[in-house]
Amino acid sequence: MCGIVGAVSHTDVAPILLEGLKRLEYRGYDSAGMAVIHNGGFQRRRRLGKVKELARALDESPLPGLIGIAHTRWATHGVPAEHNAHPHICNNRIAIVHNGIIENFQELKVSQTEAGFNFTSETDTEVIAHQIVFYLNQGQDLLQAVRSALADFQGAYALGVIDCNDPDRLIAARQGSPLVIGIGEGQNFIASDIQALLPVTQRVIYLENGDVADIQTGAINILDDSGQRVSRPVKTSSLSLSGVELGG
Ligand code: GLU
Repeated sequence: MCGIVGAVSHTDVAPILLEGLKRLEYRGYDSAGMAVIHNGGFQRRRRLGKVKELARALDESPLPGLIGIAHTRWATHGVPAEHNAHPHICNNRIAIVHNGIIENFQELKVSQTEAGFNFTSETDTEVIAHQIVFYLNQGQDLLQAVRSALADFQGAYALGVIDCNDPDRLIAARQGSPLVIGIGEGQNFIASDIQALLPVTQRVIYLENGDVADIQTGAINILDDSGQRVSRPVKTSSLSLSGVELGG
C-alpha cells in the first residue's frame, strides 16, 4: 500500500507534501516522488528508496509551486526504479499519482501506443495519464476527461491529477483504495490517510467509492459515480498532531 498526498494552496506546497509523505512512511514503499506546477510547467523529483532521499533532492533543488502531488510507491507492475516512481507525466500536460492496480492496463497500452502515446515506465499507472490526455485532446474539460478515463479502467485506484493548462485544480478520485480530502484555510489537500494532513488540518471529507472531486483553494465539488453533485459530510478528526506523534 502506497501513499498519496496533494495540495492546492496560496503558499508553496512542497513542504506540506513532503511532511505528508513522511507521515505515510508506515504504509511501506520502495520509492518516492513529487511534482508541482511552476511557471506553467511541471517540475518533478523522484528517488528510489526512502523519503529522506527525496527530501535531499528537494534541498538541493527546491520545487516552488502552489499546487502539487506526491507519492510513495509500492511497486505492483514494473520494478522499483526511479523511472517507475510516481508522479507520471503525459505530454507535459498531466501529472498523476496512483495507488492501486489497473487490471486492464495491457490492452489500454496497446491502443495508446497505436495512438502515438510514449511510455516511459513499465507501470500500470501510466495508462491513466495517457487516457486523461486522450480525452482532453478531444476537447473535454479536466474533470470530464478524468471521469471519461476512469470509465475505461478495471481495478482499484486512489488518484491525484494536476493539469498544467488548468493549474488551479486538483482532481481526486477513488475506487477501492482510500482517499480523504483535507479542508484548510484558503488551501485544500488530499491524502491516503488523515495522519498525513494533521499538521495542516483536522477537517476531512472521506471520499466514497466512485467519487471524483474537483478541488481548488476556495471550493470543493464532488461528483458521485453517476456524475451527480453530492455533498459528503465534513468530519473533524479526533486525532491530534501531538497525540499521533506521542503514540508513534
Ligand atoms: N500499480 C502502481 C505501480 O506499480 C501503483 C502502486 C502503488 O499503489 O504504489 O506503480
